[in-house]
Amino acid sequence: MEAVVEATDLEKTYGETVALAGASLAVDRGEVFALIGPNGAGKTTLVRALTGTTEPDGGRARLLGEPPTAVDRGRLGVLPQEFSPPGRLSARELLSYYAGLYDDPRDPDDVLADVGLADAGDTWYEDLSGGQQRRVCVGSALVNDPDVCFLDEPTTGIDPAGRRTVWRLIEDLADRGTTVVLTTHDMAEAERLADRVGLLADGSLVAQGSPEALVREHGGASRLTVETAADPEAFDDLEYPVERPERGRDRSSTGAVVVRDIEPAEIGAVVDFLEAEGIEYTELSWAEPDLEDVYLALADRTERERTARLGDAGGDGDGDELARAGETA
Ligand code: ADP
Repeated sequence: MEAVVEATDLEKTYGETVALAGASLAVDRGEVFALIGPNGAGKTTLVRALTGTTEPDGGRARLLGEPPTAVDRGRLGVLPQEFSPPGRLSARELLSYYAGLYDDPRDPDDVLADVGLADAGDTWYEDLSGGQQRRVCVGSALVNDPDVCFLDEPTTGIDPAGRRTVWRLIEDLADRGTTVVLTTHDMAEAERLADRVGLLADGSLVAQGSPEALVREHGGASRLTVETAADPEAFDDLEYPVERPERGRDRSSTGAVVVRDIEPAEIGAVVDFLEAEGIEYTELSWAEPDLEDVYLALADRTERERTARLGDAGGDGDGDELARAGETA
């Protein structure tokens, strides 16, 4: 089957800045593909190259089998990250305006209902909440019933209930055969929606696969977090690997120690150990690795590779940004 969206070694530079450094991916019909990666990794540039709004310097982009600029706009839906329609149009008027740009659009009221705004059709855009505004924007990208849509951070700024409405909408789209490429900083969103996830770093895809496969390959071991003021050395006699939590994992005021590679049935042994050693703790929590662990692990690897490439003088701090983005994702 020919891919609906295809990037082959895409390159793009802006002056000194390399935005895309040989990015390749292929997305099949009906697939949901989530692009993740820190700010500045090149996600928006990749989406723009694939939708024909920027011309790559090298490589090849194909959309529905054609160069992106040749594709019938009626088959394509695009939600840019920054999108601010006129404020003094109602939600319905806005969707009707966008519907009017196409030969065979959907009924704007059906689209309003799909994005959970059936009751807000008469409200001016500027009077909608931020989350409702974003949902109108999502609706505007879908009003032409596209075959393929690109959603750049579709749920940023939307409250949890609205986010679920958009998630269900994306799932319904994919069920009907629409191909969806989205970008997100929300790892739960990527894990829930995406058939495949691609991690973009420094302008190229450093890992791609289903969330499950990525977690299996890069997620590392499960962890039991012990909220305690005790030093990790107090755990020396425990038969499991112990470490201080990664940056961003430690939300406690007392500090925490992480016990790795442990199954739920083995937690009792750790509790017995803590009591036998007289180690005081305030909370225990167990977690399997998830996509956030994958992100952090790959961010770490990319940073080490970059440092190795550039030598000591090359530490320019970008990797810190990568790690920080992972913490807040
Ligand atoms: P992301 O969407 O992952 O945050 P972008 O694709 O927006 O990344 O940006 C990748 C890099 O290219 C960044 O360093 C950004 O500053 C730069 N860049 C993107 N668009 C432009 C532009 N139009 N002019 C100059 N630099 C740009």
